[in-house]
Amino acid sequence: MLTVVQPIIPDFEKFTSYLRLAFVEKRFTNGGPLVSLLELRLRELIRARNLVLLANGTLALQLALRALKIRGEVITTPLTFCATSQAVVWAGATPVFVDVDAERLTIDTEAIAASITPRTEAILAVHVYGRLCDFEGIEKIAKKHGLAVIYDAAHAFNASYNGVSVGSFGDATAYSFHATKLFHTAEGGAIETPNSELAEKLRSLRNFGFESEDVITQCGTNAKMSELSAALGLAVLEKVGDEQRARSALRRQYDAALSDVAGLVLDPGPEGSASELYYVIRVHGPENRDRLHAKLRSMGILARRYFYPLTSDIPLGDAKILGTPLTHASRASQEVLALPFHSGVSTADVHIIRDAAKSLLST
Ligand SMILES: *Cc1c(COP(=O)(O)O)cnc(C)c1O
Repeated sequence: MLTVVQPIIPDFEKFTSYLRLAFVEKRFTNGGPLVSLLELRLRELIRARNLVLLANGTLALQLALRALKIRGEVITTPLTFCATSQAVVWAGATPVFVDVDAERLTIDTEAIAASITPRTEAILAVHVYGRLCDFEGIEKIAKKHGLAVIYDAAHAFNASYNGVSVGSFGDATAYSFHATKLFHTAEGGAIETPNSELAEKLRSLRNFGFESEDVITQCGTNAKMSELSAALGLAVLEKVGDEQRARSALRRQYDAALSDVAGLVLDPGPEGSASELYYVIRVHGPENRDRLHAKLRSMGILARRYFYPLTSDIPLGDAKILGTPLTHASRASQEVLALPFHSGVSTADVHIIRDAAKSLLST
């Protein structure tokens, strides 16, 4: 079986040496030394001014929306993992779905501008497949209308744009450290923010709103990362660079092997330095994507239809508004196919996938 993603498996001895610290310190959670150390290492790696580690990426989105007091309309993309849109509803706000750019598939800046109402409070944009959003365009609209900007960077950890790390843009950037993501802590997440005051608020929100031992100043929740997750993360971190390089090499192999298959559009790749999480092709022609998906599955190659269905089509309660027609997003969700993309994919696997696509699309 070849899956789309495969978690980085850290050196077991490294992991247990970090874990031993938790045993020696007799601390498994509540801001112990391992979470502090991981926070420091990650901040250095991605050059973050403030980084707040959390239990998962969904809570990162929810807490960012809560801390920014977003309760009205949030303009967002339907071409994403369900958590992006669910977090908006859980935060008590209303997702307004707008279309994506026809090629890059990130949220379309003009569609954002066309969907602003007096109730609009925020833009929640996703660096989908690690492709970076139109930072400048989004910033401009947000400034003009006084909107908050939150980026979902679950696919763009350690990515940068013109040499600037992706988390330096907007009010807050949410990361997921789920095992399926490039860097992981089994379950985990974080918020990066240039705003130190917001970071302090988030630190309190993740811990029931505690400000000091017996002072609670806001209605928080439990969103803390445990020491066990941090121990895993510290060991995983040592392998992230190697995995990124292996995936970049695999990207070049896919590009070369699939370039002459008619009916396919290759992954355009990221701009700037990439996280390397997905390799997503588009398959033209009615039903062709689903036929290729089924064929690969029958061969034990578990390609995934990321992202299908659109999150505008999943249950989100009553709180949902369609901003602009979702023409490009709908088409993409019928055509995209994420191929296995990790260091466990061999050159032979790439050729098997190429041959399967070639024979299917020529018939
Ligand atoms: C994985 C993912 C999330 C959710 O992260 P969890 O850590 O699994 O809660 C949110 N948004 C996107 C785009 C994701 O891919």
